[in-house]
Amino acid sequence: TDFSSLGLAEPILRAVSAEGYTSPTPIQAKVIPAMMQGTDVLGIAQTGTGKTAAFVLPILNTLQQHMRPAQPMACRTLILSPTRELAAQIADNIRVYGKHTRPSVAVVVGGARIPAQIKALANGNDIVVATPGRLLDLVKNKAARLDAVETVVLDEADQMFDLGFMPQIKKIMAQLPKKRQTVLLSATMPKTVRDLAQAFLFKPLEVTV
Ligand code: AMP
Repeated sequence: TDFSSLGLAEPILRAVSAEGYTSPTPIQAKVIPAMMQGTDVLGIAQTGTGKTAAFVLPILNTLQQHMRPAQPMACRTLILSPTRELAAQIADNIRVYGKHTRPSVAVVVGGARIPAQIKALANGNDIVVATPGRLLDLVKNKAARLDAVETVVLDEADQMFDLGFMPQIKKIMAQLPKKRQTVLLSATMPKTVRDLAQAFLFKPLEVTV
């Protein structure tokens, strides 16, 4: 397979070619078409498999296919990361693959200045990349809203569990619309993560790479 057979829009394919990618990795070949159809995904994948592009490319495709004005403090896509470093990497990937479609992106992580994050959230965004604790603080302070999320991605769910973020994750998930797309990625699948998937995913495509 090559990328052009996956049905991604041309401006996204152009950004992918510019990175020198010729064909999708195995996880991309499975996850991209499923996400474009709105299916939930449970992916067991480590770093280095191309997992980031596997969820970022279909998200960019959906955002540009159905453009919508941003609602104040809301976001259409929420990507949760266990660490600031991973959140920054995901945001970098979004900028690279989204260089022609230019979605609005806010990064909301612990340790960074809150006023700047409140400002970044104020007008609403296509995508928010967040660590769980800081996002919940901003929701409590009414600087972020979760009720317009169409797609949520939990990246490195096993790390989030190891770092003690399960209570925060559950609080965040409880505030999302019931009708949404949920994607959970994890390098390992301990019972805790499987239970989380059981609770929050609906008929997911299961992918192991
Ligand atoms: P990740 O697993 O998301 O951390 O990605 C690992 C690395 O693979 C990153 O440096 C990507 O730029 C690269 N990559 C992602 N998808 C592809 C692809 N289809 N072909 C070649 N390299 C890729």
